[in-house]
Amino acid sequence: MAGYVNKILEIDLTTKKTDIITIPDKDKERFIGGSGLSAHLFLERGLYKVDPLSEKNELIIMTGPLTGTTLPGTGRFTVCAKSPLTNIWGEGNCGGNFGPELKFAGYDGIIVKGVSEKPVYLYIDDGKTEIRNADDLWGRDTYDVTDILKDRYSKKAKVLTIGQAGENLVKYACIVNDKGDVIGRCGLGAVMGHKKLKAIIAKGSGKVNPCLVDEYNSLRKMLLEKIKENVVSQSFHQMGTAVGMDMGMLSGDIPIKNWRLGDHPELTKNITGPIMRERYLKRAGACFGCPIACKRVVEVNDGQYKTEEGPGPEYESLCSLGAMTMTFNLPALIKANEMCNRYGIDTVSCGSTIAFAMECYENGIIKKTDADGIELLWGNEEVILKLIKKISFREGIGDILAEGSKRAAERIGKGAEDYTVTVKGLEAEMHDPRGWHGMGLAYGTSNRGACHSQSMSLHIEQGVTIYPELGLDKDFKGQTSEGKAEMTVKSQNMAMVVNSAVICLFVMSCISMDDVADMLRTTTSFNYNKDKVMEAGERIWLLKRGINNLMGISSADDALPKAIMTPLKDGAAAGSVPDMKLMLKEFYQMMGIDEKGRPAKERLERFGLGELITRLYSR
Ligand code: SF4
Repeated sequence: MAGYVNKILEIDLTTKKTDIITIPDKDKERFIGGSGLSAHLFLERGLYKVDPLSEKNELIIMTGPLTGTTLPGTGRFTVCAKSPLTNIWGEGNCGGNFGPELKFAGYDGIIVKGVSEKPVYLYIDDGKTEIRNADDLWGRDTYDVTDILKDRYSKKAKVLTIGQAGENLVKYACIVNDKGDVIGRCGLGAVMGHKKLKAIIAKGSGKVNPCLVDEYNSLRKMLLEKIKENVVSQSFHQMGTAVGMDMGMLSGDIPIKNWRLGDHPELTKNITGPIMRERYLKRAGACFGCPIACKRVVEVNDGQYKTEEGPGPEYESLCSLGAMTMTFNLPALIKANEMCNRYGIDTVSCGSTIAFAMECYENGIIKKTDADGIELLWGNEEVILKLIKKISFREGIGDILAEGSKRAAERIGKGAEDYTVTVKGLEAEMHDPRGWHGMGLAYGTSNRGACHSQSMSLHIEQGVTIYPELGLDKDFKGQTSEGKAEMTVKSQNMAMVVNSAVICLFVMSCISMDDVADMLRTTTSFNYNKDKVMEAGERIWLLKRGINNLMGISSADDALPKAIMTPLKDGAAAGSVPDMKLMLKEFYQMMGIDEKGRPAKERLERFGLGELITRLYSR
């Protein structure tokens, strides 16, 4: 089947055995690839039953049929596993260049099983695979490991690695591709660390050839034109994702001081896309084959926070490490971002957990003596940098905070849970549902916990778009809950397709679902159209939901935390709170969710998910 290599490498680190598995074409068509196909394998292999940090958990690294093609925004891949942070379905989607290289090296994906006794890395070279000793890499940060492996093999090889946070089983450790691109959320770096798998290096000389060449070529030309003309892609190129800082303040999108404030004058004065561009930008960077190039390569030349040229902070990191902790010093945030990348730690969960600790400190729940003598004061950048290190190495208070804010609150007690902002155990991403209620429903029903990218928010199609939600449309409807269930259903079904194909969400701001169907059809020759891919999207959401039900999730878990359900006194979203009761009621009806929070049997039958029915309804 064109688009796929039709081979998945399965590697057992306990027995050191490798195997090749193949996926039937009907399952490729039903689940596409990326996180959809991973969810199918997760269920088939019974991974919902395992402990996330046990030999039985498996790390599923998966490309999509578009990965490695020349279509724009498709150089991506996903990593999935049972999450050690949330104990449910965990997934991350990454750009960079590892995904295409893996396909060029001969594999659609890798499934890593078992646990090695000693640190190892996986070497993949044009279909040849070896497990090699990583004693000399263990204990090193992700930048060092990347440099060492590229020096050892080839500058053209692509590296996926964990830092010290993954080795130390920090529950929100991430996996880093070639320094700047991360599988950030859900703590999948800790799964890799537990397996003693320090890195994977891949190089290959293969190609991904589309099936319908002429149609594919004209489609590609048309998509590139669309992206070039699009104002969102132009802003991302100019300002990076940090363009969202200015825009977010206008709509009440940015959480400040652990979600307590809706406005702060220092924010737009100090940590915006234009300021980063003017003072610290060296150049724009791009993932494989992307014409937008939204990435920031920055350098801080001098001063206390001097930072060598490297990947700069994205919007999410500026908010979580900066606005959430009231730290508005951009060079300090560039340094904090670099430390998180090097140690291999998710900036969103890290910044949110630090902000949680600061609020506990303000309210006398954490004392200076509990915090190794550090005063956890808002806006103190030195505290942020110290805590990033302590968390990554599990030193002192860092050991508790390395568990994530939900578990840390359970251990601390004394009402600390009031200061956590999580859904299903995942720290919320940096978009405030009080500014756009559809995001509240997206957070509540996202299968990996509070996440905006599981309900695609950036899309050109009317009725499924960020624009009416964020006030960029003449018909601004952000701070109302009516009609948001329908929008969220469409949006999340689209996101399931996009995270399976795998396509960049920012590129999706320029193209339509008809385009996506054409991309998949001309590449694979499966007879996709828009309806068929949307059907696949709904199937994948239902599958992930059912998997979560098998791990104990019910409708009670679709709730937003207290902080988000408390109205703000200032900012563009002042006084507004999403009506979750209304939105969830409509959402459950539309998605066929029963009173226990499970997809109804008839709905699963309609989407051909018999494998899930057997497991879900025989319990
Ligand atoms: S828009 Fe940015 S994140 Fe998306 S593929 Fe392009 S460079 Fe990567």
